[in-house]
Amino acid sequence: MGGRARLEVELEQLTQQIRYHEAAYRAGAPEITDDAFDDLVDRYQELAGQLGLDAAERLDLQPGQDHTAGFETVEHRVPMLSLEKLSPNRRDSSGEPMPLSDQLSAWFRRRRKELEVEEIPIIVEPKVDGISVSLLYADGVLRSAVTRGDGRKGDVITKQVTQLGTVPTKLKGSGKGELEIRGELYWPLTEFARFNATLEKPLINPRNGCAGMMKRKDPAGLDETGIRAFFYQIAWDEGVKLPSTQHETLQWLSDRGAEVYLSEVFQTVSEEKALQHCEDYQARRETLDYDIDGMVIKLDDLGLYARLGATGHHPHWGIAYKFPPERKPTRLLDIEVSVGKSGKLTPVAILEPVFVSGTTVSRASLHNFVELERKDIRVGDTVLVEKAGEIIPQVVEVDKSKRKRGAKRFVVPHACPTCGTEAVSEEIFVYCPNPTCPDQVRERLRHFASRQAMDIDGMGEVLVDQVVDKLGVRSPDDLFRLEVDALAGLDRMGHKSAERVKAGLEEAKGRGLGRVLNGLAVRHVGETMAEDLAAYFKTADALLEFAARYVAEDEEAVETVAPAKSSERGAIEGLARKSADSIFHELDSPAVREVFAGLADVGVSLRVRAADVREVADVAGKTFVLTGTLPTLTRTEVTKRVKAAGGKVSGSVSKKTHYVVAGDDPGSKHDKAQSLGVTIIDEAALLALLGDAD
Ligand code: AMP
Ligand code: ZN
Repeated sequence: MGGRARLEVELEQLTQQIRYHEAAYRAGAPEITDDAFDDLVDRYQELAGQLGLDAAERLDLQPGQDHTAGFETVEHRVPMLSLEKLSPNRRDSSGEPMPLSDQLSAWFRRRRKELEVEEIPIIVEPKVDGISVSLLYADGVLRSAVTRGDGRKGDVITKQVTQLGTVPTKLKGSGKGELEIRGELYWPLTEFARFNATLEKPLINPRNGCAGMMKRKDPAGLDETGIRAFFYQIAWDEGVKLPSTQHETLQWLSDRGAEVYLSEVFQTVSEEKALQHCEDYQARRETLDYDIDGMVIKLDDLGLYARLGATGHHPHWGIAYKFPPERKPTRLLDIEVSVGKSGKLTPVAILEPVFVSGTTVSRASLHNFVELERKDIRVGDTVLVEKAGEIIPQVVEVDKSKRKRGAKRFVVPHACPTCGTEAVSEEIFVYCPNPTCPDQVRERLRHFASRQAMDIDGMGEVLVDQVVDKLGVRSPDDLFRLEVDALAGLDRMGHKSAERVKAGLEEAKGRGLGRVLNGLAVRHVGETMAEDLAAYFKTADALLEFAARYVAEDEEAVETVAPAKSSERGAIEGLARKSADSIFHELDSPAVREVFAGLADVGVSLRVRAADVREVADVAGKTFVLTGTLPTLTRTEVTKRVKAAGGKVSGSVSKKTHYVVAGDDPGSKHDKAQSLGVTIIDEAALLALLGDAD
């Protein structure tokens, strides 16, 4: 494989990993530490830069990531970027690990060169682990508060911030002029504990709790939470006379009634001392009433900032030092293998209970057998445990010095531990291929009934387990055949609850094909893929007929979803050849066909729900490509609306593109569209096509 090809493969792998871990993180179940995630993104950015990927294709530059439905979004005057980080895992060009001190001096060497100065005054501040916010004050009065969002556009939370009562709505003694101040909304630990004690279902941690609170549509009651904000930067100003250094800026803000961490800052001209301070500060961490996840090392002279500029993802005036998460040793008592809903076999560590970052840990996922082998984890070992994203326990590594003689390597199971069927491997995973495997049946039914899938009211995991164990339910359609009397006879069920479940089942029959497909737990079919398949094929019959043709290698069918030419995109966005093979084979299997027949039999709707698509004649069947910044809509919104109207959004321009929608600063796609003679339209024209005149 050539150099470039190798990089492309690595980039593709990174893309998959990042997507996966991002989804896990958002689902509240991160599997790797924030540091490890940052490293993936760092490497991704490095490769994407080397390969010259354009912004629209880059995972890290996709907007709309942190938008909450129902909130107005606005563009930031100055993008809210993330900070470059000193990372314990970074390596130099020859692959040697790079000490933090070397990374920091390399960073300062570049600044000195760029600025042509010898000595650089440094300021070190704590990095509070909260939610970034941008606050606009005009003539000293708070006009708007906006979340970081994707860095380019954020959600307007002015009402929510105002309601807190802890963030000044007026800056003391302020004259005319406008200011955009950056700060961090945070929940003081004592306030969080006090508030959490009043909740029936406690919040997981102050950071996520704070993020959730600030996205409450109704701000009433937010003043009782005790959430506050630290201010750390003036990002933009007009008509205001401001200090010329960071430490004076903090003082200036403080004089105007804004909370700053002035007492916590450290000033020096020595990089070594700055780093030492970061390391020493860890001890102080325990004594603070707020969570910090590291420190920020900044240049103090603001006059230098403008001369430094920024890359697309990091400003050049500062770098973050992240604290390593708490790590505790414990003994690995056993390795269990669990069977998931699509048959995936996952090794799970059974640990001697150990207290880490606030909770007792006794089990931890080991993710997959490749990972297990790479870390060379053996039963009886002393392992180090930490919490990823401070929530999900991880086995980080083995303390090999404590390994007992004769400890055996874990053998990847050749058969399913539950049903004994011979296991099969697919990429890095191992599966039990038996669709009637008892564990799979149970996990699948739990998933089918769950909120994300068929959302069957009253059918929680405990009830699913009972109907499997006591009423012999095996397949989703069996659920709909359950009688009220049988349900009423189960533990902790009465006639009333049984009737409620039955009503829930009746209601669920109309959820539509997308939900059904998601509920069947077909490998590689998540929520989005399920909806996209439903929107494209419309009915289960059409989908199954297509699956049969695809499996029979009908050229037209294969070409529709997985075009041979890599420059073209298939009818279903984001469906790669390999997943298509797997999905259509599984859909065409007798087991899945039987489930569909059963569902049809009990009256479950197997068509796409009318409400999910409202085809618009001018858009249906057309392919759109987006480039540049649109005046009002985000990329995610446009994609959603075009898809709902029956159109497609693709990432790159080809002769088959019908329209290129261009906004401000359009990229190379605009030029390509011109050279291919593709119609270029603006946002207003797109809205007109969508039949939206406003
Ligand atoms: P990250 O998102 O980890 O790249 O870090 C950047 C974020 O750190 C910013 O968006 C801020 O919200 C947050 N932050 C917290 N404290 C500070 C500080 N003292 N200076 C700059 N950023 C800070
Ligand atoms: Zn099995």
